[in-house]
Amino acid sequence: MRRMVEQILRCTKCRIYTLERKCTKCNSECLTTKPAKYSPEDKYAKYRLEYKKKEQGLQNNTTKDI
Ligand SMILES: [Zn+2]
Repeated sequence: MRRMVEQILRCTKCRIYTLERKCTKCNSECLTTKPAKYSPEDKYAKYRLEYKKKEQGLQNNTTKDI
């Protein structure tokens, strides 16, 4: 059996890799780096955006960017 690989995320600003959902440096959102998870096509980009919003809503109800 294969183990699931830990999810590697990357800060969209610093472009550093991390396992945290929030960058420890700039506190911005970190995204998964797994290739081919999403299609570059627009219709999928839309879904990705929705997913992102949902995730943020679940996690950061009171968080606001400064
Ligand atoms: Zn960062």
